[in-house]
Amino acid sequence: MEDICIVGGGAAGMTMAIVAKRENPACRIVLVEKNDKLGKKLYATGNGRCNVGNTRGPGIQPVLAFFDSISLMTYEEEEGRLYPRSQQAASVVEALEREMKQLGIRWIPNREVLDVAGSPDSFTIKLADGSTIQSRLLGISTGGKAAPQFGTTGEGFRMARNLGHTVNRLAPVLMPVTCEGDFRDVKGVRLQGKASLWKDGSLVAKESGEVQFTEDGLSGICIFDLTRFLKLEPGENQEEGFRRYRITIDCLPEMNYESLVDYLKKRINSLEELAGTWILHSMVPAKLIPLIFSKAGLSDKMDIPILEFKDRELDALAAFLKELPFTITGGKGWRTAQATAGGVPLEELDPETMESLKVPGLYLAGEITDSDQPCGGYNLQMAWIQGMKAGKAMGSFLNNSK
Ligand SMILES: Cc1cc2nc3c(=O)[nH]c(=O)nc-3n(C[C@H](O)[C@H](O)[C@H](O)COP(=O)(O)OP(=O)(O)OC[C@H]3O[C@@H](n4cnc5c(N)ncnc54)[C@H](O)[C@@H]3O)c2cc1C
Repeated sequence: MEDICIVGGGAAGMTMAIVAKRENPACRIVLVEKNDKLGKKLYATGNGRCNVGNTRGPGIQPVLAFFDSISLMTYEEEEGRLYPRSQQAASVVEALEREMKQLGIRWIPNREVLDVAGSPDSFTIKLADGSTIQSRLLGISTGGKAAPQFGTTGEGFRMARNLGHTVNRLAPVLMPVTCEGDFRDVKGVRLQGKASLWKDGSLVAKESGEVQFTEDGLSGICIFDLTRFLKLEPGENQEEGFRRYRITIDCLPEMNYESLVDYLKKRINSLEELAGTWILHSMVPAKLIPLIFSKAGLSDKMDIPILEFKDRELDALAAFLKELPFTITGGKGWRTAQATAGGVPLEELDPETMESLKVPGLYLAGEITDSDQPCGGYNLQMAWIQGMKAGKAMGSFLNNSK
């Protein structure tokens, strides 16, 4: 009989194991991971640099202390984003794995957990090779459904449901979106701007940052963050549901509409005979200019001399520079998503210990819980914090029940 079995060796699972073992050095822990190595997803995070947390996020002090305790040196970039000083995600996994080895925590790689069952004083964990593990306490940290190529295919939700938990509606978030239109000509263009999300004409959310154009839509951190607000009604047709949403991009957030109109008018005097597209020269990436003319209904003005522009045409260009509209037709889905919205509701867990309020001895941490966060290190920060809480609670429960 194990004291603790942890299912899923990602950020939350490894943290849970380390903190539990430190709290109760005598306890027997086994961690089961379906991939051949621990923390496979972590290698891909932060474009291979792993944005481990954010100094602006809640609960950062214990997270920094945890990093220090595993000898992970971090440094802060703009907007509070924390990375390993080496700028290599591998450093994070190596530090966690080394600490697990040093503490004598056993882990079983390449072994998928098929199901778990609870009885009053122990849990039975069924593995894909037909074997079972009996454990006094059970931690589930199987992540969500986002990026299934890293092993997170959502089985933890089924396990939680079988044990009596609710699972709030799951949706991929922090992903690119597809939009109506053909964007092959602007594929790869990047723009510093402000993106707003609208539903049925009402503003839902705004984000500033880099917008990236893809061949079929929009990407970039601020677009990713907006996808957390895309909510389809139960039973709603996917495409119809998405089409109720629009993203508008403010290409020049530092200028208001009126000053933009004035600026374009001044340009007429200096650019006079040049072709129409010169009116936006150097204001936005060159490849975007035809798209802006087209969305403003002015494609036929791209080649006329700038002197011939009418006031209402300048007004239209300024309006579209401030609110370049895109109708969303869909999200790019689980494979491209960085996080899962939905999952086990936090109300069903003790917020201090992450212990289930439905099944004593069961602890949940990380993306399996309904606690998705914006980009910027906040999702991993949540995983470390919840993993620490669960590990500490498991270790001290065992201490108190000797
Ligand atoms: C491309 C990408 C980039 C990202 N970048 C960042 C970033 O820079 N900063 C940030 O804060 N967040 C980032 N995220 C999000 C972040 O990686 C996750 O929110 C975080 O890893 C969740 O931690 P977790 O421990 O809950 O789950 P995971 O780290 O996903 O770990 C879950 C583990 O459980 C295992 N598992 C699943 N089912 C089973 C089973 N049945 N049996 C055994 N094992 C199982 C999986 O193989 C996996 O190893 C990124 C995500 C992606 C996809």
